Amino acid sequence: MSEQDEVILSVSHLKKYFQLSRTEVLKAVDDVSFEIHKGETLGMVGESGCGKTTCGRTCIGLYQKTDGTVLYRGQDIHNLNKTEQFAFRKNAQMVFQDPFGSLDPRMTVADIIAEGIDIHHLAKDNKDRSEQIFRYLELVGLNREHANRFVHEFSGGQRQRIGIARALAVQPEFLVLDEPISALDVSIQAQIVNLLIELQQKMGLTYLFIAHDLSMVKHISDRVAVMYLGTLVELTTSEQLYADPKHPYTKALLSAIPIPDPDVEEARDAVRIPLEGEVPSPINPGEGCRFRKRCRFAKEACGKTMPPLKDLGNGHFVACHLYDNDDE
Ligand code: SF4
Repeated sequence: MSEQDEVILSVSHLKKYFQLSRTEVLKAVDDVSFEIHKGETLGMVGESGCGKTTCGRTCIGLYQKTDGTVLYRGQDIHNLNKTEQFAFRKNAQMVFQDPFGSLDPRMTVADIIAEGIDIHHLAKDNKDRSEQIFRYLELVGLNREHANRFVHEFSGGQRQRIGIARALAVQPEFLVLDEPISALDVSIQAQIVNLLIELQQKMGLTYLFIAHDLSMVKHISDRVAVMYLGTLVELTTSEQLYADPKHPYTKALLSAIPIPDPDVEEARDAVRIPLEGEVPSPINPGEGCRFRKRCRFAKEACGKTMPPLKDLGNGHFVACHLYDNDDE
């Protein structure tokens, strides 16, 4: 079995509902299944409110699930005893979208990075602790002079580097990266993505990379999962998704990515699929396909039953009635 065949995370029929009132239930994640293999990056994309962050948080145990299972190396992460939970928290870390909000402004950078080292007793002594802090700072492109400074002294990109160093300091193997570049300037985004790729190669990390648009995940993902209103609508390799998207929602998301070549852009205008209307509410989404009110291909069946996620071959999964009975 090659490393890439080894399943690290197996998510099966996962549901996460929030009871808003006696009658209203927000179905943030509704029957989502996927696997992540060792050393791979699974990109998870969708507009805001589609449930991707809730899915990431439920996969790492920050939220209790409503139903379904999340297995981490075969262990049900929502059913761990205290010792197992402690080990899981070390192995699986989260990097948040807002590095400023997630880093304590009263702590020095050294203390932020050392927190996990201390909790998990990863340093032999104080010298080793300091060396580890410096090593993680250097790994993320900062230097030892930064150790005694406070978070407000850093730029957005540097703060995200600190957030990544904090996550790495417990020597995890799996990271949920929750829109780690969305809050950063475009010029800085590529630097952080390149850093994450470099760290993955150096440390054999596995990523769930959450983002709100497809252009961000293209460079980093091996496979991409597209979410719409709490459901997974397409899942395939990054290459396949960009070359031959199947779901109307994925096609619309791809149409929205600007291409800096006017000729290509003009040619694309002829086949562009506009994404119309607002994302409907995940509260009481009704029967049928959740994309039906924005889909120009909607047919009768789309209002009646939710299309299941179906394998079209070579691991290209799509949930859309256009592919019923192989009738493409
Ligand atoms: Fe459109 Fe129907 Fe496919 Fe939904 S199932 S994406 S409404 S064609």
